[in-house]
Amino acid sequence: MKVPLLDLKQQYATIKEEIRKVTEEIYASQYFILGPQVERLEKQVAEYCQAEYAVGVSSGSDALIIALMVAGIGAQDLVLTTPYSFFATAGAIARVGARPVFADIDPGTYNLAPVEIEQAIENLSADEKARLKGIIPVHLYGQCAEMDPVLQIAARHGLVVIEDAAQAIGSEYKGRRAGSIGDFGCFSFFPSKNLGAFGDGGIVTTSSEKLYDGLKIFRNHGAAPKYYHRFIGGNFRLDALQAGIVSVKLKYLDNWSRARQANAENYRKLFADAGLEQIELPLSIQDRHIYNQFVIRVAHKRNDLRQHLQQSGIGSEVYYPVPLHLQECFKFLGYGQGDFPVSEAAADQTLALPIYPELTDDQQAYVVDSIKKYFS
Ligand SMILES: *Cc1c(COP(=O)(O)O)cnc(C)c1O
Repeated sequence: MKVPLLDLKQQYATIKEEIRKVTEEIYASQYFILGPQVERLEKQVAEYCQAEYAVGVSSGSDALIIALMVAGIGAQDLVLTTPYSFFATAGAIARVGARPVFADIDPGTYNLAPVEIEQAIENLSADEKARLKGIIPVHLYGQCAEMDPVLQIAARHGLVVIEDAAQAIGSEYKGRRAGSIGDFGCFSFFPSKNLGAFGDGGIVTTSSEKLYDGLKIFRNHGAAPKYYHRFIGGNFRLDALQAGIVSVKLKYLDNWSRARQANAENYRKLFADAGLEQIELPLSIQDRHIYNQFVIRVAHKRNDLRQHLQQSGIGSEVYYPVPLHLQECFKFLGYGQGDFPVSEAAADQTLALPIYPELTDDQQAYVVDSIKKYFS
């Protein structure tokens, strides 16, 4: 049996006609950049995420960069985040000229640990504390970070809160949707995300009219009005084809999220029945986990298990093998091995299993059975 990590072809087959219709409308209009399709998607996503506004942008990475720019964060500034995330989280901070400051994660949820945030701020000098301007909590794998403590710490230190919700569209924390909790919510439409485009794309949510105006200006090279540049922004625009496609898919997102949640419950049952004590299952403690990934932890020889699964026709992935503080390009930050032991252990031990909505019970049983065979 073959079980890919992700199979987007099955999903496409169910929406093919609608996609064809919307893309043909766009071809006929010859209106490709921003415009009515993007505006419609922005309204839909703002409503879906319980935010006042949304601004379509070129990618999830650019969503983070433009949010930092609009927040006025740049050279000399510090921004706190997690070392256990996709590279763009910290890359965006460095790209605007600021310095990433890392704090370790919680071993159960893989999200920023509030006590570690406090500690990381405590470790800064008085001068560095004064230059700390923002915090980027990541809602990793589709589950919201512990946002109440993040907001409290941010209020105490005057920090802008930028949610990296690239993996978490529709997830909730105490009844609040990801992207509606901080000052900005940054989303990605990379094809493998729960709401994926047919190329690159992203969106930023906010409930502040002032920040919304800033996002629209920075998205277009900081021009307001046209050809009069108040700021140095960039080309962060979303194109109409991606917006039209994402808009079609958004209608189905809740069904797809429910299917992922059902698959997660099914895995829990299958793992419990198999009595696999060597495997630690993902913690689900927030209100609505949307399972962009289902990540298990294997204390020893994770890579051997991954290879065994591959030989059995099962796709899996390591998100992420190298924590950000140990990346070559961040050597200049001065961090080293042992600085964030929880993140380092996660990088060595975690493995993402197939969880996509169309996954069948038989395929899941085969995955768990293959893991059982490996351990016996
Ligand atoms: C995917 C992702 C991004 C970047 O999104 P792109 O659209 O690929 O640029 C940023 N942060 C996290 C946590 C992600 O998973």
